[in-house]
Amino acid sequence: MARNIDPKCKQCRRAGEKLFLKGDRCMSAKCAIVKRNYPPGLHGAKGRRKTDGFALQLNEKQKAKRQYQLLEKQFRLTFEKARRKSGNTGDNFLKMLEGRFDNTVFRLGLASSRPQARQLINHGHFSVNGRTVTIPSYQVKAGDLIKIKPTKARGKFFQGLGEKLKGRETPGWLHLDSAELTAKILTEPDAAALSPNFDVQMIIEFYSK
Ligand code: SF4
Repeated sequence: MARNIDPKCKQCRRAGEKLFLKGDRCMSAKCAIVKRNYPPGLHGAKGRRKTDGFALQLNEKQKAKRQYQLLEKQFRLTFEKARRKSGNTGDNFLKMLEGRFDNTVFRLGLASSRPQARQLINHGHFSVNGRTVTIPSYQVKAGDLIKIKPTKARGKFFQGLGEKLKGRETPGWLHLDSAELTAKILTEPDAAALSPNFDVQMIIEFYSK
């Protein structure tokens, strides 16, 4: 599956805020948003242009897309699926973005960023209900049991992670057993409890043109 290979910090600078794409670095003083919070490019340092209407809608769409690390086609397809479902399109869309397997692994703290979660999934580090899942876009369901595969759990990457995750607060729809490094999906993501840093209504308007 194709993936977004644009430089991650540039994506944050374009969005004008932290999208947390690089794990621990995002919390450090090395973060590009801390050091150079203006758009990338030759004229970026002149500051951001005022945006309204279509440009604002486009910005919100781009920010969400970059945050979940999707390409336009994947993002649009997810939106179309959300639109076809019954109920509120915005809520459906948020739930589908949050319910992606890569986002779930990130929310659980089993990866330090969504791009890292995606890579771990692609490399077969996790099983869902006993079966290896290598598809980052897999939609988790209530009752799903996520485990790190035993052969991978012994690897350097996961050493000490249980200790690090002790007491970690996870979203209400997830339960993490940090000692066993397993997780259960309790319910579908609750759209009302999510507080996205983008305006989903603007994305709906963008795609409704
Ligand atoms: Fe974004 Fe993280 Fe880079 Fe900061 S360090 S600009 S939050 S990817």
